[in-house]
Amino acid sequence: MPRVTSLQLIPALFSAGGAIAASGAGAGPAAQAAAAAAALACGLLAARTLGAKRSDAAAEVAETVRAAELRAAIARADAAERSVDLGRRVLARLPQPLLLMDAAGRVIYANPAAHTLFERLRMGEHFSMSFRNPDFLDALADALDGGPARSIDATLHGDRGRALHAHLDGVIAEGEDPRARHILCLFEDRSQAMQAIRMRTDFIANASHELRTPLASIRGFIETIQGPARNDPEARDRFLGIMQTQAERMQRLVDDLLSLNRIEMNQHVRPDQQERLGTLAREIVAALDPVARERGTVIEATDMSAGPLVRGDRDQLSQALGNLIENALKYGGGKPVRVFPAAPTADRPGMVGLTVADQGEGIARKHLPRLTERFYRVSVKRSRDQGGTGLGLAIVKHIMARHRGDLTIESKLEEGSAFTLWLPSAEAWETPTPHADR
Ligand code: ADP
Repeated sequence: MPRVTSLQLIPALFSAGGAIAASGAGAGPAAQAAAAAAALACGLLAARTLGAKRSDAAAEVAETVRAAELRAAIARADAAERSVDLGRRVLARLPQPLLLMDAAGRVIYANPAAHTLFERLRMGEHFSMSFRNPDFLDALADALDGGPARSIDATLHGDRGRALHAHLDGVIAEGEDPRARHILCLFEDRSQAMQAIRMRTDFIANASHELRTPLASIRGFIETIQGPARNDPEARDRFLGIMQTQAERMQRLVDDLLSLNRIEMNQHVRPDQQERLGTLAREIVAALDPVARERGTVIEATDMSAGPLVRGDRDQLSQALGNLIENALKYGGGKPVRVFPAAPTADRPGMVGLTVADQGEGIARKHLPRLTERFYRVSVKRSRDQGGTGLGLAIVKHIMARHRGDLTIESKLEEGSAFTLWLPSAEAWETPTPHADR
């Protein structure tokens, strides 16, 4: 018997279906019983109209009993039909694709989810016409041969490649020959889970690699200072300076990793403060002014103190804006960075935009869709030379997601880039825009 609870409906459903089939097309159990009742009623009527005097008390009682039995049979048949109908409805709603095959491997039932997954699925055709995965077909052959229930992983190739987990089990309807078993197959689409595992593995590998590089450098210099450079104060000072830079790089990386982790943990917590983006911008610009000066440039910010309020986490919004301005300073070619309100657009009703624009090297179009991936960099060397971790824009993206906002990037090579934070205004927050779930 199948072990999955929802699957326990199947034998009942299909044994009742068998009764339907046995009585011929369109004659369900209720119809059968109704026909029998009609026949009996006709018989009784005929007997009465013919004037047959049935004074025999025993015959009367027998008739009454038979009529009662018939009523009960009709009620039972009605109940059975209702339960079959309910079973079908339940299976149709099941989000997991589910199939039933006959003893020859032909599909005799498929719920809508199965039809969506296997586009070429046809009733009455062998299932191998729809799904040719060799491992699955081996498992199916085994199940048809009377093998025990089993689960296997199989990939569905095609445009929409899917990592499937299939559970196969034999089902024998009551009173049926055990060799004529049906095969029940329940699929689970594990593509998203597999992708999440892959992303996690990649992330850990990337983070370890990023940390290992400065660590190896620090260890190398420690050995040099302990060995060949032991008596060379000048070299030692130089190496210590490099070690400091590498340690700072590790610190930034750990800070960004922790930051990302914290933001992800709170991703579904609704921000509870109200902020004016313009006020935040003024504070961040003031804080980063010395960094701009160090790079021989300035940050030109439009006064936005009268701008609309947004619902937000103050620290996180500052961090997002700070990351964008720091990037503009890092990759802006030493030219002025501008911070200004974005013009409202019709496709973002109720959203407030803030743009950070630089006049630097710009970014080739092919990189734009991937810039917010963790550790994705146009040039790893260039990013490292600028003290980058490759996590800044990933942090911004996650902060925007928590705030039901968005980050848009426009860039032209040799002309510069414009990064815009979009946030729902405090009023619009309660009625989310179509962008809210991006
Ligand atoms: P990083 O720490 O490397 O700056 P980010 O996640 O902040 O990491 O940015 C990812 C990459 O996007 C950067 O390495 C850089 O290649 C590119 N990038 C980000 N901002 C700009 C910008 N203003 N101009 C040009 N390239 C940029």
